[in-house]
Amino acid sequence: MATDDVTAIKIGDGEKRVRIVHLSDTHFHHDQIYLPRLPPGDVLVHSGDFCTTGWSRLFKTPDYDHHIQQINDFFSKVPHKHKLFVGGNHDMAIAGRRQEDIQKILPEVTYLQDSGVNIEGINFYGSPWTAYKWKSYNRAFVRKWGKFEHHWDDIPTGTDVLVTHMPPHGIRDMGRQDFSLFQNRRDTCNVCSQTHEGRCHLGCPKLRHAILNRVKPKLHCFGHLHGSAGLHVIDETTFSNAALSIRVFDYYV
Ligand SMILES: [Zn+2]
Ligand SMILES: [Zn+2]
Repeated sequence: MATDDVTAIKIGDGEKRVRIVHLSDTHFHHDQIYLPRLPPGDVLVHSGDFCTTGWSRLFKTPDYDHHIQQINDFFSKVPHKHKLFVGGNHDMAIAGRRQEDIQKILPEVTYLQDSGVNIEGINFYGSPWTAYKWKSYNRAFVRKWGKFEHHWDDIPTGTDVLVTHMPPHGIRDMGRQDFSLFQNRRDTCNVCSQTHEGRCHLGCPKLRHAILNRVKPKLHCFGHLHGSAGLHVIDETTFSNAALSIRVFDYYV
């Protein structure tokens, strides 16, 4: 596991404490690594890539029914009162279906797909989509870059905790250079003013714009880019990339 900061981070300034435990990109290590170490809390948020698929699926169809069973088994075992999940690009087992249909096959968790839920007075909203990457075999919930133009307009203003698999551009979003529309590999980065040869920012600029200019959630939970796990704060928003990590927030409502 990478970053694993289980000291609770304070969010908000209300009277009532709601403890949020954020996981992402557990990639089938849920039972061995995560379940024995999960801190208690009120809301467990998993921001995608519960499963793992790879090139081998081109030759043999994975046992998707077993993948779905593992998701349900995990969420049935965790002690948190409320459990939220959005898909990620590896979650092929549940892809290609409407939110209502995925919810039916995942009865142990509240599944968010361009939808929201209010828990303990906090408005959560979740969306699983990431950008299509032509070399990847993991194409659950992917869209071409141009298709994000208006996608994030659907995030309601008044969202307190946004959950996406996709990072926002320039925030905990470094990944391998092999796919970038935004940057030349030898330039000084015009986002973070550093040079990071072989790596670049792969988060979504439209998502960043929606968050910083309109939605302004207190917390944004995401993952996807494993090497960029960590925290970042801009204005009133705390950003959490919890890929391969466990992070805890005390949200005061
Ligand atoms: Zn992942
Ligand atoms: Zn991913």
